Amino acid sequence: MSEPLLIPCPACNGLNRIPTERLADAPRCGRCKSAVLPGTPFELNQASFAVQLRGDLPLLVDVWADWCGPCKAFAPTFQQAASQLQGRCRLGKLDSEANPQLAGQLGIRSIPSLILFRGGVEVARQAGALPLPQLLAWLRSQGIA
Ligand SMILES: [Zn+2]
Repeated sequence: MSEPLLIPCPACNGLNRIPTERLADAPRCGRCKSAVLPGTPFELNQASFAVQLRGDLPLLVDVWADWCGPCKAFAPTFQQAASQLQGRCRLGKLDSEANPQLAGQLGIRSIPSLILFRGGVEVARQAGALPLPQLLAWLRSQGIA
């Protein structure tokens, strides 16, 4: 048995400990019974971001806004990436209009912006949308297969 991973629930932000070998088994949150690794992007805000950063799986954040055409065009790609990377990387969406303080803390200058966090620390950033193959290649170059 390997060390279980700490994975915050995207629905209630409760902390779950999931054994590595169970990551692919659609684990459910011990508190709210929602899918811990839903394979779809989840919404982040100032409060949940701090909790989600503590997760042991990498966290890819798409910073977007409702008025941003390229952000909206990118949403289906981000959704597909979440599905393909289920159990390996968590994908969150941050509405920069609803969370201006956090967007400021992250130093967002343009949207969409993609930020990859690992162990609570930013490890890579991409300004602008990417087609799915390039997005997956970029993540592979960051060790996310
Ligand atoms: Zn939960």
